Amino acid sequence: MSERSIAEARALLLAHYDAHKRAMPWRETKDPYAIWVSEVMLQQTRVETVIPYFQRFLARFEGVRALAEAPEADVLALWSGLGYYRRARMLHAGAKHVVREHNGALPADIDALKKIPGVGDYTAGAIASIAFDLREPVLDGNVERVLSRLAAMPGDPRAKTQRKSLWDLARAFARDPRAGDVNQSLMELGATVCTPASPRCLLCPVRAHCAASAAAEPERYPEKPPKKAPRAERWTALVVRDERGAFWLGPPPAHLDRWKGMLVPPLALDGAALDGLRDGPVIAEVVHVLTHARMQITVRAASFIDDAAPAREGSFVALDSLDALAIPKVTRVILDAVAQAGEESTAVASSRKKASIRPRKGRAKKGSSPPSRT
Ligand code: SF4
Repeated sequence: MSERSIAEARALLLAHYDAHKRAMPWRETKDPYAIWVSEVMLQQTRVETVIPYFQRFLARFEGVRALAEAPEADVLALWSGLGYYRRARMLHAGAKHVVREHNGALPADIDALKKIPGVGDYTAGAIASIAFDLREPVLDGNVERVLSRLAAMPGDPRAKTQRKSLWDLARAFARDPRAGDVNQSLMELGATVCTPASPRCLLCPVRAHCAASAAAEPERYPEKPPKKAPRAERWTALVVRDERGAFWLGPPPAHLDRWKGMLVPPLALDGAALDGLRDGPVIAEVVHVLTHARMQITVRAASFIDDAAPAREGSFVALDSLDALAIPKVTRVILDAVAQAGEESTAVASSRKKASIRPRKGRAKKGSSPPSRT
């Protein structure tokens, strides 16, 4: 795109943004901390989902220092259900860095922002432009799509050459005193008008500058390579309950970074044995899909092998305590499956009381379970 076309398109985008921008709580502030939290939460997550999490998070952790000083379990508990928990851990680590290196105030400097753990080019550009009015670009999925279409840019947008061209174009758009609004107008257009399927070109403020629309093939861009199918994984989840109906939850298996610091029922990959547990009848089969993996989970009732206090790390957790804990979605999926199967499907299996396993009628016939894996 020529400089002139970019300048005209930028003015049209700003006018459209001023007239049509959606109300969002983080758009009512210039507080860099609030903008940072919102940008991290919005990665891979829809605006409507983020709003209540954002409000609860800021009510609990009012500033960088409050977040830095909080226990990680509290941060993860407030993130519970939002997914991609690495974001919460990095935000927490980032807050500690800002307290240590910048006395608790986010720096108005793009290079210093990029040194904060978990803050990459996109988040640094968003904080710099929206909170500090610096003329820095952003490039998220929405902006990538809009710019690829405006320029009718061929090739994979994640490839090095195309990536550089897209950042250069985003940088050219951000050369404006209202860089933060320009960046948000591009994101907003991608979210509401220039959507992945069926973009609404007839309503688009920058249609006159769009090469993809002029060629009548907007959906051709960005030219992404076909997605890889998620890896298929087979898991067993063991459901152990005490006499009050509380569930045994503990840390995930050591190799499972995705839920580090959170609570899950005992989980085993590919039929691996779980120390100290005797598995019983099948309660349910559930599927939980993550970005890179499709978890096929066999949920079984289980008990501890003897009366001794379990060697496993964890504790019995009452259902009404779950909301205050760091629980990934997979734990809720498993416990929901147990609830749907009915109370009688799980055994009372205290570490102090002798376990009694009762197969559920019509679900697991006597003798149908595989041998105990002790
Ligand atoms: Fe997207 Fe169509 Fe607007 Fe081009 S004209 S930016 S393809 S909505």
